[in-house]
Amino acid sequence: MSGNLRTLSQKVWDNHIVHEEPGAPALLYIDLHLVHEVTSPQAFQGLRERGLKVRRPDLTVATTDHSIPTTDRALPIVDPIAAKQVSQLEKNCADFGIPCYGLHSEHQGIVHVIGPELGLTQPGMTVVCGDSHTATHGAFGALAFGIGTSEVENVLASQCLLQRPSKTFRVQVNGALKRGLSSKDIILALIAQIGIGGGTASVLEYSGSAIRALDMEARMTICNMSIEAGARAGLIAPDDHTFNYLHGRPFAPKDAAWDEAVARWKQLPTDDGAKFDREVIIDADALEPMITWGTNPGMGVAISEPVPEPAGIADPLERESVTKALAYMGLEGGKPILGHAVNVVFIGSCTNSRISDLRIAAGVLKGRKVNPKLRVMVVPGSMEVKRQAEAEGLDRVFREAGCDWREPGCSMCIAMNGDQLQPGEYSVSTSNRNFEGRQGKGGRTFLASPLTAAATALTGVVTDVRTIL
Ligand code: SF4
Repeated sequence: MSGNLRTLSQKVWDNHIVHEEPGAPALLYIDLHLVHEVTSPQAFQGLRERGLKVRRPDLTVATTDHSIPTTDRALPIVDPIAAKQVSQLEKNCADFGIPCYGLHSEHQGIVHVIGPELGLTQPGMTVVCGDSHTATHGAFGALAFGIGTSEVENVLASQCLLQRPSKTFRVQVNGALKRGLSSKDIILALIAQIGIGGGTASVLEYSGSAIRALDMEARMTICNMSIEAGARAGLIAPDDHTFNYLHGRPFAPKDAAWDEAVARWKQLPTDDGAKFDREVIIDADALEPMITWGTNPGMGVAISEPVPEPAGIADPLERESVTKALAYMGLEGGKPILGHAVNVVFIGSCTNSRISDLRIAAGVLKGRKVNPKLRVMVVPGSMEVKRQAEAEGLDRVFREAGCDWREPGCSMCIAMNGDQLQPGEYSVSTSNRNFEGRQGKGGRTFLASPLTAAATALTGVVTDVRTIL
């Protein structure tokens, strides 16, 4: 029995209950509501129709990311729907008194990049956003949920969210990552192991020596993809990495408030002996660079392994799903993915577009040329990341290697504004979803780490970065 011992997610949950009744969802207070241009227009419209104000504009922050072009910001947005979404968000924020880091803001960026970067995301918070990958913010020990449009409206109106309690699921990653691997390989290995439904109805808590060794940006990559295992959220206990990352950021507490906050945050980690509903242990020493071969993020293999052979799969449903995915991807079962030709490499998205991701990719590309047959797009996650990268000369490394250095946004993660694959084309992408058509109708996506993406950019074929380091 764990008695009153609680996990990190249970502590954050308990701290935010406004009201609960047996058998009904609990009403949770929300500390931070992040808003973007795609899932908010109907929510603001709903407020207008109901004559409501935003309950806590001071706890609400907006940015434009999904629909904006990644070309020169001085140019008009060609896509009329995207242009309307961007201007509508800016008007809605002005009308309702919400801070908006819009298209021309120096803080614009992907919503899951700018929240942490500005110090808005803090340990122990509840964070919501009308976007599936809100789990990213769990890297700080926050309980962060992606919500739907009607919930966006409710949170805008009440600053509360109805939620049912989640199961607790600990993912312990022991050992140390070898050279050529990154946190992206940990999360792709986990999803390949437990499947896209493995985390259903659960909050994943990542722990173990390999997680503790990761910096905050690497932790964000892991939490970001928790949703791809079907989990409601993913989180990591705050520690010195967390505090050091946050200290001095614009919205982080200052002076005495900082000391009080750190003392409070140190109470959040899971109590020794607290019980989880499920646990999985991963040996980081045994991991290889991972890559997906199929049409969901759970269809992944170690880069040196062959893709699955349907004939060897006993379960008929799984056999059918693998057969269908291989057909869409144009791959032959049982054959290696290593050496498969690609057309595009995309380094970006809320999974891997932070400064450390760009440094890693630039480290592989420095002084080399990408394969001239390839289109290689490097899209920083925010204006801040872009400024930092340019101050360090990473943009020059990318340009001199033959990459396309872009303005911040979601870009090819969701095939916006022409940043997309053509039918039949293959990409190695550092994003988080490889669904059919996700990067363009008929496009075929191999998900991988920035290291694998950069190595592939050099050769033009899926490449094990360890062979060129
Ligand atoms: S980068 Fe992709 S996954 Fe992330 S918020 Fe944008 S569209 Fe969603």
